[in-house]
Amino acid sequence: MGSQEVSTVDWQGKHVTVAGLGVSGIPAARALHERGALVTVVNDGDDERARAQAAELEALGITVRLGDGATLPPSTELVVTAPGWQPDKPLFLAAAEAGVPVWGDVELAWRLRGDNGKKAAPWLAVTGTNGKTTTVRMLASILEAAGLRTAAVGNIGVSLLDAVLGDTEYDVLAVELSSYQLHWAPSLRAHSAAVLNLAPDHLDWHGSMEAYAADKGRVYEGNTVACVYNVADPATEDLVREADVEEGCRAIGFTLGAPGPSQLGVVDGILVDRAFVANRQKQAQELAEVTDVDPPAPHNIANALAAAALARAFGVEPAAVRDGLRAFRPDAHRIEHVADIGEVAYVDDSKATNTHATEASLAAYDSIVWIAGGLAKGATFDELVIGAAKRLRGVVLMGADRALIHEALTRHAPEVPVVDLDRTDTGAMSEAVARAAELARPGDTVLLAPACASMDMFTNYNKRGEAFADAVRARADESA
Ligand code: ADP
Repeated sequence: MGSQEVSTVDWQGKHVTVAGLGVSGIPAARALHERGALVTVVNDGDDERARAQAAELEALGITVRLGDGATLPPSTELVVTAPGWQPDKPLFLAAAEAGVPVWGDVELAWRLRGDNGKKAAPWLAVTGTNGKTTTVRMLASILEAAGLRTAAVGNIGVSLLDAVLGDTEYDVLAVELSSYQLHWAPSLRAHSAAVLNLAPDHLDWHGSMEAYAADKGRVYEGNTVACVYNVADPATEDLVREADVEEGCRAIGFTLGAPGPSQLGVVDGILVDRAFVANRQKQAQELAEVTDVDPPAPHNIANALAAAALARAFGVEPAAVRDGLRAFRPDAHRIEHVADIGEVAYVDDSKATNTHATEASLAAYDSIVWIAGGLAKGATFDELVIGAAKRLRGVVLMGADRALIHEALTRHAPEVPVVDLDRTDTGAMSEAVARAAELARPGDTVLLAPACASMDMFTNYNKRGEAFADAVRARADESA
């Protein structure tokens, strides 16, 4: 059977345990119940919200067990889990012992595609430590420019399950996949896939860098046309080499330099394709200009090349790549220019929640007042500080783990002035902006790129970015 074919499961009377009431658990429970499965939802929490959600599901005839997500109901034949649940939870250990398979939301969506009579659209998949959302949205923009019916799905916009089960017909889906989702998606087979980069992140969940990389690498399994890797990040190419792909599937590299055969790259400010052309030894096809990409920062050009590679693998014409990149606008809080005050630019990259993203963002500016800090998630900051030291005018630190960044600055950039705000309250952001403004000189960029998660001070990175933008705008109004 070809790997892209739809596999059908007879759900009638099958005992399925859905782990976790939540954004993926509730639609999964409903979809399985509609197909005749005997569904039990288990959930750790037992608060008011969970009870209300449980009541809705119970009204449909679904069993819900609140306050115990650890015990496997005895008759379970399949577990469908929310992707964030830690793999060493007792529920999964019990499932492994009983030989019961565990699927995540992605696996379920993959298995259910096409079972409602709708065309099963192929998936173009994107994973990596950073740049997934941006790349998937660029890809969807390109596919749309080519006249294809598509959507950017996964952690953004529409959920995968909704895209697969809803009424809208798609020709192809641009799918963002996290390492958690890939961990629980054993039979997923994308048309083509890209791993953008690999840097330590979420190691507390995966247990080790090897396990994290292995889960990311699953995205290449069974690809039919192209495995897209980052030439500058050999670990991504290693994953291609280790993957078991369909006959004829090609390894395609992307690089910020001149491309070799079977690569996409950049020559004299032009994005060029030397992979999907008739004669790749001698020929290169112009796709777009670097200035067609917003913002044209190096890491974002890399994202554009990866998106272009996947689109070209799907047969999209060069003009649509250009039009799609031109039409693309970045999401909020990703290197977002908020305002210029005096001759200082204020940029919100609140989405830089780890050191790898922050490294890319610090590399995009020449002279920076850097606002950082929050929850470090086990990261170390030495390399980041060493790489950026020369470009730092000053640093303002806040948040729970700021001391870790301060120590790295003391070790590697002792001459850079540091303001250590001994605060973790939400109001700290406006003081941070005020102190950053004092440090900045004309021509500088004040950059919020925290290298940390936000939850010590804010509900999420959006709220953190909004607090920064509010504080900046208030200053801009004052100085107008
Ligand atoms: P993800 O969906 O993987 O979290 P996003 O596109 O939302 O990725 O970007 C997350 C953060 O990573 C942003 O702060 C952005 O500046 C940074 N970033 C985006 N693309 C890259 C890349 N290719 N390499 C490194 N950092 C990147």
